[in-house]
Amino acid sequence: MESSNEKDLEKIKAQFDSDIVGVTTKEFLREIEIKYLGKKGHIVALMQDLRHASPEQKPLLGKKINLLKQEISASIDNTKGILSKREMNDRLQNDKVDVTLPGNKTFLGRKHPISQMVDEVLDILVSMGFSVQYSPEVESEYYNYGGLNYPEDHPARDMQDTFYIDKETLLRSHTTSIQQRMMESHKPPIRVASPGKCYRNETITARSHVFFYQVDAFYIDKGVTFADLLATKKAFYEKIFNQKIEMRVRPSYFPFVEPGMEIDIKCTNCAGKGCALCKTTGWLEVCGAGMMHPEVIKAGGLDPDVYSGYAWGGGIERLFMLRHRISDIRLFTENNMNFLEQFG
Ligand SMILES: [Zn+2]
Repeated sequence: MESSNEKDLEKIKAQFDSDIVGVTTKEFLREIEIKYLGKKGHIVALMQDLRHASPEQKPLLGKKINLLKQEISASIDNTKGILSKREMNDRLQNDKVDVTLPGNKTFLGRKHPISQMVDEVLDILVSMGFSVQYSPEVESEYYNYGGLNYPEDHPARDMQDTFYIDKETLLRSHTTSIQQRMMESHKPPIRVASPGKCYRNETITARSHVFFYQVDAFYIDKGVTFADLLATKKAFYEKIFNQKIEMRVRPSYFPFVEPGMEIDIKCTNCAGKGCALCKTTGWLEVCGAGMMHPEVIKAGGLDPDVYSGYAWGGGIERLFMLRHRISDIRLFTENNMNFLEQFG
């Protein structure tokens, strides 16, 4: 092999200078680096050729090769820096914020339709003089049943209808459970509305669920009459349905009232002609009601010969379903946004 000389050095330097000018990518630069500075690159080859040089030439030539190596190395580093800067500029260019673009839409939470309905019902009742009181969801057997004149063997106490925690404790099956709690701690007149979730061990269908919301209300004082109940209920439903309504009562049985009744209103959809909403009967069942049973009043520590009262309770889902003509109670708990968004 011929020994390296200065001409070789110049040739390689010129070649490098022309190579480096054309570099546009980091990959290309890496190839150049390998070509000149790699283990099998030009600089190493020059070093190896050095042993063929004469002793006089060797030191000088070695020095020049080293200088060339440093020069190439510096040039590659410099190009690397330029490429990195260019890359960053490109990225910044692409990421530039366009202030004219519309912003990301943020969604505000809103109340569930049932919560809205509870609020509305309570607003009306408060305006009629009722105060709002809450009973616990996990309730004692006494407040849910015993104190409300449910006989020991009443079918509603059966395990099939009620979720028992233990023999004495259950998930309240109605918010009527507020009555004895209030009578124990307050003197008449007591006029209370009590909203909340109730639980019953029923098959889930379009019409019934294992939990639902109820508002229960009762009013006890001297001289409270059946006429008071009817007038209050009529005024209440006229506000809920925002129209004049016609009401009727049918005898029914609830242990805590005597007499007990179901209250119907003339169908708000067909005005009594018969439609799908009222199942062609012309009437809509809206709540159970009645005059407070003397045994319940007695259990509350009051004399039923002196005091009388009325009580009623109705499902919130049912009220909402009638007003908005919804046919399936399960929609309220399925987190179906298409359904829920209609009631903002
Ligand atoms: Zn109808």
